[in-house]
Amino acid sequence: MPTQLTAADARSARLARLSGAARAIFGLALGVALPQLCAACREPVEGEGLCAACWSRLSFIAPPYCERLGIPFPFDPGPGILSMEAIADPPAYNRARAAVCFDEIARVLVHALKYGDRLDLAPMMGRWMANAGRELTREADLMVAVPLHWRRQWARRFNQSALLADVVGKASGLRVSHGALKRVKATAQQVGLGRSERAQNVQGAFRVRPDARIEVAGRRLVLVDDVLTSGATIEACTQALLRAGAASVDVLVFARVVAPARVPI
Ligand SMILES: [Zn+2]
Repeated sequence: MPTQLTAADARSARLARLSGAARAIFGLALGVALPQLCAACREPVEGEGLCAACWSRLSFIAPPYCERLGIPFPFDPGPGILSMEAIADPPAYNRARAAVCFDEIARVLVHALKYGDRLDLAPMMGRWMANAGRELTREADLMVAVPLHWRRQWARRFNQSALLADVVGKASGLRVSHGALKRVKATAQQVGLGRSERAQNVQGAFRVRPDARIEVAGRRLVLVDDVLTSGATIEACTQALLRAGAASVDVLVFARVVAPARVPI
């Protein structure tokens, strides 16, 4: 599974945080800004986030893709064609779009942002999302980020999905709602769970705050998250938003898991 966080990952995330903090302190002491390091290979990099070599290894998602799920097609089957997955197991949301496939480099970026050692990546990642989701944000009234449970947010001090939503909001001019959607159940990490276990794990985990129903009811929403894996979390959030009266829910993520050789029907 590409989403598994191994002990080695956790160790490297800790090391990266330490070295990031050390660099910041060192830079402060010298009164200079040290050059950024590439989030993936740690070579010094001009400008933002990734070096050219690592950037070229990302798989940006562009049409042709399934109109509904946003899964790229290996060839163009014509406009409006859906993937087999979208027909066999239609999601509660209308359309999903992702900036990149969740492969090796995307995974490094997501983890670097999520575990807080590279919050500086959010503007770059959010801009790519804004591009991928232009069609969705243009037609929407409001954006909502997938929330963390308050205890996890307190421990982490930020919600990576809300950071990304803020960047997309700035780039697109679409308003972001903070706090309308709440995670009311502290769920176990989805890592290592199967598809049905994931769905069960997040069942009833999300709710629209009663006083925020007026903000959501009748509105076309864009739901933002960092990664779309099995879709269980996104599905649970979408259902909570629709129950609160949302007119429609589209989904915008930074990266989505894409199995190879998807053929449209
Ligand atoms: Zn690199």
